[in-house]
Amino acid sequence: MSGIKVMLWIIAIVFMTICSTDAEDKAQKWGYDKEDGPLRWGKMFPDECGEQKHRQSPVYINTSAVTFIEDFDQISIVYQKNHEHKMSILNNGETVKVKVEGQVNIVGGSLGEAYRIIQLHFHWGSEDDQGSEHKINGKAYPLEMHMVSYDNGRFATLQEALSGFNSLAVLSTLFEISKEDNPVLDTLIHAVEEVAHKGPNDIIDMDWVDPQSLIPSKTNHFFRYDGSLTTPPCLENVIWTVFSEKQTISEAQLERFRGCFYQNNDGEEVPLVDNFRPPQPLHGREIYASFQPKAAVPAAPVDGTDSSSIVTSSLVLIIGMLAAALRFF
Ligand SMILES: [Zn+2]
Repeated sequence: MSGIKVMLWIIAIVFMTICSTDAEDKAQKWGYDKEDGPLRWGKMFPDECGEQKHRQSPVYINTSAVTFIEDFDQISIVYQKNHEHKMSILNNGETVKVKVEGQVNIVGGSLGEAYRIIQLHFHWGSEDDQGSEHKINGKAYPLEMHMVSYDNGRFATLQEALSGFNSLAVLSTLFEISKEDNPVLDTLIHAVEEVAHKGPNDIIDMDWVDPQSLIPSKTNHFFRYDGSLTTPPCLENVIWTVFSEKQTISEAQLERFRGCFYQNNDGEEVPLVDNFRPPQPLHGREIYASFQPKAAVPAAPVDGTDSSSIVTSSLVLIIGMLAAALRFF
């Protein structure tokens, strides 16, 4: 009898543990709403996304403070066209994600040849002046695409790669508004419409889109820095590449993204928009450029701006003015 009692106690404890884990998971559900959005992630996930983490993404890119590196070669996306590869799409309530199957690799950009693309997804705004996660000289763009890859040379699977140093590489493409539809987006936009009202479990096969056609054509001009995933668990093992040239999207095509919905915490179906994290502090990190950007007009500091360069240049300006004034008198 006592053996059965012990068994019952063990089952009860295991059951309670499972229930409390479930409860914790629910409490830790993140999103982009006020109560679970990016400004709360530091509190919700202090060890992953909190203030003590010093290589978080996205960042503010000030083109007058980047370091030019000559050695970066241009980036291309390579796959064997006669081999099997396919795409499927889903709306997981946080973004629209395109899963990529098959050996599709990023080549160049000092990344080697082993970074294998596994998915691409998007961040967009409810208005044209917001939506992107990275900001360049203070400017946000209405849409940003992230092409996510892992180092398939060092790691056999994505799961293994998650714990490795610089084991992920993300290509970021910023979009600006064009008057005409961008025809390379047609297939993608059609697929986005199909998942507009779907949930995370509805994964739909879509026609193949050449990933190279989705990124800008000038792939030798980009910014590079060490960062993290921009959503929990905010893993700090991402090599970021942000293309300088922009892709284009028409207002009508952008509306298809804004026409996606998700279920909020009250169970209501609401538009999925403004799914972006603001820039995070650089904490002394360098941002490199594969080209020499034109000098930027000094921009007003924004969230996450590393203000040290602004303070330094202000000091230089004040000292210069004092010196000029002394000479004058
Ligand atoms: Zn992203």
